[in-house]
Amino acid sequence: MSESEEAFDLAIIGAGVIGCAVASAAARAGRSVLLLERAAREGTGVTSRNSGVVHSGLYYPPGSRKARTCIQGQAMLYAWAERHRVAHRRTGKLVIVPAGAARVAEAVEALHALHDNARRSGARGCELISPDAVARLEPALPRCAAAMLCRESGIVDVHELTRSLLADACNRDAVLVTHAEVTSIKPSPAGFALESTRGSARAQRVVNAAGLYADQIARMLGLAEFTIHPCRGDYFRLRRTPTFNHLIYPVRAPGDPGLGIHLTLELDGGQRVGPDAEYVDAREDFGPAEHKHAMFLAATRRLLGPLSPDQLAYDGCGIRPKLRAPHEPADYDFIVREQPTGCVHLLGIESPGVTAALAIAEELRERSLL
Ligand SMILES: Cc1cc2nc3c(=O)[nH]c(=O)nc-3n(C[C@H](O)[C@H](O)[C@H](O)COP(=O)(O)OP(=O)(O)OC[C@H]3O[C@@H](n4cnc5c(N)ncnc54)[C@H](O)[C@@H]3O)c2cc1C
Repeated sequence: MSESEEAFDLAIIGAGVIGCAVASAAARAGRSVLLLERAAREGTGVTSRNSGVVHSGLYYPPGSRKARTCIQGQAMLYAWAERHRVAHRRTGKLVIVPAGAARVAEAVEALHALHDNARRSGARGCELISPDAVARLEPALPRCAAAMLCRESGIVDVHELTRSLLADACNRDAVLVTHAEVTSIKPSPAGFALESTRGSARAQRVVNAAGLYADQIARMLGLAEFTIHPCRGDYFRLRRTPTFNHLIYPVRAPGDPGLGIHLTLELDGGQRVGPDAEYVDAREDFGPAEHKHAMFLAATRRLLGPLSPDQLAYDGCGIRPKLRAPHEPADYDFIVREQPTGCVHLLGIESPGVTAALAIAEELRERSLL
């Protein structure tokens, strides 16, 4: 790195949506920023393989960092997207209990509990609506037993969002170095000395935004209590089906590490179902999983009604950086941990990380961690 001997105010490890949001916030606060990314460009990690849903913050414990940054981040994301012309759409989301669901009464009770959780968390625009109202909103959906409408949920072009955050940072003199895998960080008298595959660098402060590898970076600085457990989510694409207007979700099953196989919409009109949740060994094995077709077909029929096998085609996967191990009963909150002073680790930034990105960066700024 030609910048090797210049000391930056802040070095950020990882140019995913989180690293780029942090870079933008730091550069706006007048810091000199060095962004080190091991891949050839920004946004090719977890940021490139997700549903692109702008979440409302229904599922997380009220007051948790996930709830807080999701709800605040949703408003910040829409404002950013409007200002920076990032493609997005407030589609709204329905959480439904299909009329033919097994144990309908239990599922309706769980829906009411979810609505109550959303209300206590401060999620905007969530209301229980009648099956008749659902039929008006989604004529192609079989009649349901109960539903919640989340008006503020939507979709965003995550790639454009990430690029716009990076461009904002670089317009304020942040420097992105690609093909720069950080291999060591050591505290030094003036801050931190970093070694990467593109040379060495110095910075007063460091933010670890390395996604699936954030636990390995944390270990370089003695923070060993967190381990990332890769949790894969596959998608199937709907073909020749009716067009739905909303994101459509089932009620999350207790203990499910995912949200249950649901319908997500794309900005170009595409419709996908997924992701499921399967713990895997490899952090980056994205090989196809066609064998899940029968399971996805059954889940999609339960949610959306009749569907023939050829209306569902495999469509890729993403891998979540979960802190929750397979045997653990509940998800972790997002972890923001400073260790040692001056180095902040962002760990377990799974969903709703895209939605929360701007609010996570804002939290770091407010706490003078940038
Ligand atoms: C299946 C799935 C669906 C999801 N759906 C949604 C959704 O609908 N809505 C939502 O809000 N969120 C969703 N998420 C979550 C969201 O995608 C993530 O929270 C977010 O993308 C995390 O961004 P990140 O910047 O932390 O990680 P990443 O994008 O992975 O960025 C980390 C970067 O660090 C780099 N890196 C790693 N190690 C090093 C190193 N040693 N040196 C230099 N660079 C390094 C990597 O190359 C990578 O580019 C979903 C996630 C998954 C997996």
